[in-house]
Formats: sequence, C-alpha cells, structure tokens
Amino acid sequence: MCLFCKIRDGQIPAKVVHRDEQCLAFEDINPQAPTHVLIIPNKHIATVSELVPEDREVVGQLFLTAAKIARERGIADTGYRVVMNTGDNAGQTVFHIHLHLLGGRPMHWPPG
Ligand code: C5P
Repeated sequence: MCLFCKIRDGQIPAKVVHRDEQCLAFEDINPQAPTHVLIIPNKHIATVSELVPEDREVVGQLFLTAAKIARERGIADTGYRVVMNTGDNAGQTVFHIHLHLLGGRPMHWPPG
C-alpha cells in the first residue's frame, strides 16, 4: 500500500484538516510556506496521467477543498498556489496524486 493510502487509512499519522467521501487533506510534513496542505483523493491514483473520465468529480473536489481551506486560512484574498507535480521531471516523489495548497507568503514564477 502506498504512503498516502496508509495516511488515508490512519496507519501513518498526519495532521488531518479535512476529510469527506472523496478526499482527504492534511498538513505537509515538510512545509514550504506558512500554509502547505496536501489534498489527496481517497482513491489511489498514481499520477495525473492515469486519470480516467470517471475521476472528473473527485478531481473537482480536490480543487473545491483547496479553495475552502484557503478561505478558512484567510489566504484567499492575498492569493495562493495549487500545484500537482506529475512524474520524475516535475519532482513527484509520492505516486498517489496530491494537490499542494501553498500560501501565506509571496510565490515566485516559474518554480525551480
Ligand atoms: O509533489 P511531491 O510528490 O514531491 O510531494 C510530496 C509531498 O509529500 C512533499 O511535500 C512531502 O513533504 C510530503 N510528505 C508528507 N508526509 C509524508 C511524506 C511526504 O507530507 N509522510
């Protein structure tokens, strides 16, 4: 079972900030900004490249959850970044898709 499936199932501890039928959100263990939350689908999907049409709703829920948490954290007005690294060249290290929600400081573009 992958690392994030274990977090989903409570086998590895995480600071959970949101849970519903489709997704789970928790604090990144190595935060890169004052807010750094990961939002994952409950369904194991390794990369964006493996998405299928049936995943439309859950992908939408990842973004809706990011927007909700951003509002709760008070960073919706100042701006934030949502990003999903895909594959080795993008630096993906955990192969269970996860939306990074980063905010609370200015962001630079392009990322490294
Ligand atoms: O996009 P990428 O796959 O590189 O991101 C993985 C993220 O998962 C990292 O930001 C890392 O800090 C986080 N992580 C975590 N808890 C773990 C292992 C990794 O929050 N137990």
